[in-house]
Amino acid sequence: MELGFVGLGAMGLPMVQRLLAAKHSVVVFDLNRDAVATAVAQGAIAAASPLEVASLVETVFVSLPTPAIVRNVVTATGGLIDGTRIRHYIDLSTTGGQTAKDMAERLAARGIASLDAPVSGGTEGAKNGTLAIMISGEEALFESLRPVFEVIGKNLFHVGRDIGQAQTMKLINNLLAATAVAASSEALVMGAKAGLSAETMLNVINVSSGRNMATEKYFPAAVLTRRFDFGFKTELMYKDVRLCVEEAEALGVPMWIAGTVKQVWGFATSQNAGKEDMTAIIKFTEGWAGVEVKS
Ligand code: NAD
Repeated sequence: MELGFVGLGAMGLPMVQRLLAAKHSVVVFDLNRDAVATAVAQGAIAAASPLEVASLVETVFVSLPTPAIVRNVVTATGGLIDGTRIRHYIDLSTTGGQTAKDMAERLAARGIASLDAPVSGGTEGAKNGTLAIMISGEEALFESLRPVFEVIGKNLFHVGRDIGQAQTMKLINNLLAATAVAASSEALVMGAKAGLSAETMLNVINVSSGRNMATEKYFPAAVLTRRFDFGFKTELMYKDVRLCVEEAEALGVPMWIAGTVKQVWGFATSQNAGKEDMTAIIKFTEGWAGVEVKS
């Protein structure tokens, strides 16, 4: 198929590389020229703006950091919305239900159909095509794009017909991931200070009731090695928890624990750690305790 793709970051670039390898034609745009050059070297066609992408192809994917950037790329002057060919808009970013609904409404007024399709599985999942993709919107549109989704994801879930439902699903998932990383950081630092080895703690936890994605995957690969290179920025995790708590408040659902988790990620972001990998959040507790969790 002829596809458009805006946002060639940690997630977008490997997704585009897979689409190119699967012989789709992909028109790309990103503010980062290096990322565009990498995609072009592998067969992508560079466009000068989101508007040009949307004037060259019918189906445009975006993978962008924040709701504000998505709104800008879609609706600002030079945005996707004014494209002459675009008919389908698919948001793979995590931007929350309200942005998905607002963008879908604006685009529908121009005859452009939307799907919100946030993903989970990290940069490794994006490289290997093993992402989980949560999709909401018209099922017929999803089915027509299934061959494309199958190139980038392994577990596809059409979670509902209403735009925004997939975003809500994704926020729920990331709240749990953010909680696991924050709580596991504190727990492992406590153990290290008490003299337990990091490997012993993970060996025990990962066959016991405390196990979670942080202890099974993120910490062994990125914390014990001190590489802090999972590939998901702290500021993006904070954005997800904040969006989740906002949506819960709008729904009238109290979230005591999520409120605290939001403060933890917000604090890290406020201390200039926003661009650091999310696994580096453990460094705060390590610093206060005077120990490191390492191999
Ligand atoms: P990233 O910061 O690595 O990449 C974002 C890309 O968007 C960058 O290349 C940047 O140059 C580009 N960009 C920013 N503003 C732009 C604009 N106005 N026009 C065009 N391009 C612009 O972010 P990421 O980690 O790839 O995440 C993208 C989205 O996917 C986020 O919403 C994130 O929450 C979500 N997500 C990330 C992961 C992960 O593990 N990294 C996993 C699941 C979901």
